[in-house]
Amino acid sequence: MDPAYQAAGAHPENLGAYALDALDPAEAEAVRRHTAHCRECRQQLDELVEAKDALDRVPLEALLDISPDFA
Ligand SMILES: [Zn+2]
Repeated sequence: MDPAYQAAGAHPENLGAYALDALDPAEAEAVRRHTAHCRECRQQLDELVEAKDALDRVPLEALLDISPDFA
């Protein structure tokens, strides 16, 4: 696992993949740990899960490109 990935304050870029259960177990665990204390990402994830439910017919690739943008 990339150490920088777990750096404090670093938002995971793969929430979309996580919402789709498309991550490796280790990656999914890292996202889970991050969202446990990051309200922004948890909200983002909620939206992604809702979008996933609504867009089940959209190709996976389209959703995997989604990344958080908190600029
Ligand atoms: Zn975050």
